[in-house]
Amino acid sequence: MMTRLYRTEKLASPEEKYEELRSILRHLEEIKHPYAGRMAERGLRPEHINGYEDLSLLPTTTKYDLLNCYPLGWLARDKKDIVRIHATSGTTGKPTLVAYTAEDVAMWARNMAWCIGLSGVNENDVVQISFSYGLFTGGLGYHDGADLLGAVVVPVSGGFTDRQIALMKDLGTTVLACAPSYALRIAEGLDEKGRDGIALRLGLFGAEAWSEELRGFLESRLGIKAIDIYGLSEAMGPGVSAECLEQNGLHISDDFIAQIVDPKTLAPAPDGDEGELVLTSWRKSAFPVIRYRTRDLTSLMSGACPCGEPTPRMARVRGRSDDMLIFHGVNVFPSQVESAVCGVPGLTPNYRINAWKERGLQNISLECERSPESSGDDLPRMEHELSKAIKQSIGVTIPFEILAPGIMPRGDNKAVRIRKK
Ligand SMILES: [Zn+2]
Repeated sequence: MMTRLYRTEKLASPEEKYEELRSILRHLEEIKHPYAGRMAERGLRPEHINGYEDLSLLPTTTKYDLLNCYPLGWLARDKKDIVRIHATSGTTGKPTLVAYTAEDVAMWARNMAWCIGLSGVNENDVVQISFSYGLFTGGLGYHDGADLLGAVVVPVSGGFTDRQIALMKDLGTTVLACAPSYALRIAEGLDEKGRDGIALRLGLFGAEAWSEELRGFLESRLGIKAIDIYGLSEAMGPGVSAECLEQNGLHISDDFIAQIVDPKTLAPAPDGDEGELVLTSWRKSAFPVIRYRTRDLTSLMSGACPCGEPTPRMARVRGRSDDMLIFHGVNVFPSQVESAVCGVPGLTPNYRINAWKERGLQNISLECERSPESSGDDLPRMEHELSKAIKQSIGVTIPFEILAPGIMPRGDNKAVRIRKK
């Protein structure tokens, strides 16, 4: 059988992309979609949008636009054309719903097949999907992509780590797809159960911002190459961008147009500068994605990738602007704290940041834990090194506590890194 490869043979031309985008905007006008109202306020018509420079004329959209018209006020297609509903995870109260037509689901599957295929996954692979299945887009997103590639898909969903490990051994799983924090838990499970019969070679990790240090940790502990795949439910789900085996930036799907803006002023960031990623899809139709503010901080990379993929690349996401804490005047991201924790021998990468306000001032503290192999006698050395590593990574000192092995809570899906008190 031929290896089914999903590579970008040829990028769509700008003419084609903006023609499609204009037809989406014209449709929004016709159906009096809330977004068309926002355009009208600016005196904007679809014919004003003819290229990348014109995109900035369009109003941005946010999660609140979707939330404010809960459940499906953002819908731009007939209900009879909708085949799937998903929702964003990790929010309190009402979820943000997103809807898909059959073409949207097909586009998503094709994008996920492309993302997974960039790491060479093919029909010879056994792909264990340990993202949770359900309203969350992780499980089904990876499922449909791996399915299109013709791989053996094992839809385990999250949790039940012992069963995950047994299946991994019995089926000869070669590719593990899950949140990086859950991969940590699987690594711990393997420490207990032993690695006999493990055939893993690749980890496809996403749904959380994770540091290079955690990547190194997972690669050595699991004996794999760890690949970052990016996406968000409001825009489609996972599959917006992915690393290839070069692990040097994430290739952005040709179905999306990426902009980087200053999160405060929304002005375009200078080339290569870090800012907030704003996404536009010239294809997705049920829930239009037009200048959607992701809250994720990254930058666009220049130059061609040695892998031959012609798509542009973005840097790994440093964090969500929502997760950024300002402490003693310094911006603190969980990924920076993670880098520091991972760099200290004897600590596990399981950590939590407590954040609370005192007389209007932001306070934070860190909890982490030592590994089962470490000795309590070694605590002073770990404390000394962690304090140094935090200062180096963030620029300020943060009070911390190193707890006994196994104390930090482990999740089955996305980890909660910040606990607001
Ligand atoms: Zn590449």
